[in-house]
Amino acid sequence: MGASALRRCGKKSGKEITAVLDIIVIIILALLGAALGSFINVLIYRLPLKKSIVYPPSHCGSCEKRIPFYLNIPIISYIVLGGKCKFCSAKIHWHHLLIEILTPLILIGLFLQYGLGVLFFKYAVLCLFMIPIFFIDAFHQIIPHVLSIPLIPLGLIFAYIPRTDVSLFSAAIGAGIIFVFLLFLAYAYRFARKQDGLGGGDIWLFTGVAAFFGLESLPFIVLISALLGILYFFIFIRDKEKGFAFGTFIAFTVVVWSLLGAEKILDFIPYL
Ligand SMILES: [Zn+2]
Repeated sequence: MGASALRRCGKKSGKEITAVLDIIVIIILALLGAALGSFINVLIYRLPLKKSIVYPPSHCGSCEKRIPFYLNIPIISYIVLGGKCKFCSAKIHWHHLLIEILTPLILIGLFLQYGLGVLFFKYAVLCLFMIPIFFIDAFHQIIPHVLSIPLIPLGLIFAYIPRTDVSLFSAAIGAGIIFVFLLFLAYAYRFARKQDGLGGGDIWLFTGVAAFFGLESLPFIVLISALLGILYFFIFIRDKEKGFAFGTFIAFTVVVWSLLGAEKILDFIPYL
């Protein structure tokens, strides 16, 4: 074998090893994501009821019977049981299955976008907060503070790590500006209309999101989630008396923006 052939051979096996490693990471993320999705389902059920998220162990919301470990396997249990409780046959809402499938897919998508570096962990953390926020706000029109406020220090910590996509300056200023701006808007609306327009939950959520994305992405996140929200309102609700879950649209926009890669999208926009 000549030297160049050897080199080619070495290159090829190097590529193969990388491919095998990628597949191993994807399998791990699939399993981890399904397990995290299962935990997110617990959060979605218990946080709005202000119940402990660790005790008691998983039980049926209808008959209160404890779910045995062999029926607590993400995705598989739902399919085996046909979406019903084994004991009382109460229907288990389809969002449980959806979240157990969606969570691993989002993690794998982030890995394909960022590799296994700091940015992967940064946006994985952010998206793992967005999934329960999406559903809790959609179901109950609330954003629990335990899911929104921690995003602010977390975003600043990630920004503090050198050579990530958002500088500490941009994250801190972005979070500060959006917080003051939305607070002003909320008070102005309350003063003018004598009712709440923007929930406190939305303000904390936007501030946390700003700490992750910084000044550059922020206007787009605000604009896109507001447009989606307004569109949804005019198509499906149309009742001015009814509030709607703005947090759901913020969470959706944040996950899509993370999956597409904030930096890459900004590169497409010519004037930035
Ligand atoms: Zn039951």
